[in-house]
Amino acid sequence: MKILVTGGTGFIGSHTCVELLESGYDVVIIDNLSNSKKEVVDYIKQITNKKISFYEQDVCNKDSLRNIFKEHSIDAIIHFAGYKAVGESVENPLMYYRNNIDSTLSLLEVANEFNVKKIVFSSSATVYGNPKTLPIREDFPLSTTNPYGSTKLIIEGILRDLYKSDNDWSIALLRYFNPIGAHKSGLIGENPNGIPNNLMPYIIKVATKELDCLGIFGNDYNTHDGTGVRDYIHVVDLAKGHVKAIEKILKGTGCDAYNLGTGNGYSVLDLVNTFVKVNNVDVKYKFKDRRAGDIDACYADPSYAYKELNWKAEKGIEEMCKDAYNFIKKQ
Ligand code: NAD
Ligand code: UDP
Repeated sequence: MKILVTGGTGFIGSHTCVELLESGYDVVIIDNLSNSKKEVVDYIKQITNKKISFYEQDVCNKDSLRNIFKEHSIDAIIHFAGYKAVGESVENPLMYYRNNIDSTLSLLEVANEFNVKKIVFSSSATVYGNPKTLPIREDFPLSTTNPYGSTKLIIEGILRDLYKSDNDWSIALLRYFNPIGAHKSGLIGENPNGIPNNLMPYIIKVATKELDCLGIFGNDYNTHDGTGVRDYIHVVDLAKGHVKAIEKILKGTGCDAYNLGTGNGYSVLDLVNTFVKVNNVDVKYKFKDRRAGDIDACYADPSYAYKELNWKAEKGIEEMCKDAYNFIKKQ
């Protein structure tokens, strides 16, 4: 079975390629390297000792896609490619709508031409907006507060409409919570350029003394210690969820959404303190004002993914902190 992975050299895509290859799938990657590096292809090969096909191309380009579909007999698609920084999407919404929506439409149109009607899409817990109760179930109301989130919601809608119009499609919408960590080998992981937006890369840059001090956004939230609570999930667990989703969509047809989270909520301070303890490092922090748009707490009810995909997260927060730091030390 051959899987086309868009955005396959990115953080989640690269870990998913490893899990797919280790589960016996063939992998074809298309990535324009706008937020990743070509070396990742070699690291994936090194970890798995398997061959992969890589195309440095833009998913918005339908001719490039057509050539890939002509060259390979694709059985299913995992669509990771897209921009993902919330703040940047507020500053430059057109860039986000153009890239995220356009790449998806091009991909779906070409896939349709080649009669490949099985796709897993990277959605996000951000589509739940500010949930009224916790844990979050898939049937909760959907809303967004920024253009990035809106692109996810729009694409979910496009995929649902597509299925309604043609019941041969088989579609999994995976709503990720907060992926962190890295592969045990230390070869692939997350290392954004510049000042990170997300908590774990920021903690790491303070631990490695690239940045002075972590700003914790708010200590007056309605949580056990006042700092924001999130559902951090090891990226390898998340990657395994994609293999399960592929198994599911290969079996039948339909369009359904699944939460990929652990079901556990940890605060910013929980994560910082665990990181400090397991890696034996200092992480200086100070409290700052709340970040606009942030919510008190967000964690998944992952029971539907367990029931339907036979998947659940297995790795704990200590392993996430160790693996994330191990990757950075090896860079
Ligand atoms: P990433 O930026 O590491 O990976 C995305 C990859 O897509 C990059 O390698 C980038 O070069 C590529 N890309 C972007 N636009 C492209 C285009 N037009 N053509 C070809 N390649 C393109 O991000 P990630 O963290 O691995 O996230 C993967 C997906 O999961 C994204 O869709 C993201 O929105 C979604 N997601 C991520 C998180 C998270 O916290 N990381 C949470 C929820 C959802
Ligand atoms: N956070 C923080 N300082 C930072 C980055 C994030 O205190 O430099 C907090 C943020 O307010 C939230 C949590 O860490 O409570 C996770 O934020 P992140 O941006 O990683 O993910 P989000 O859940 O917002 O997508």
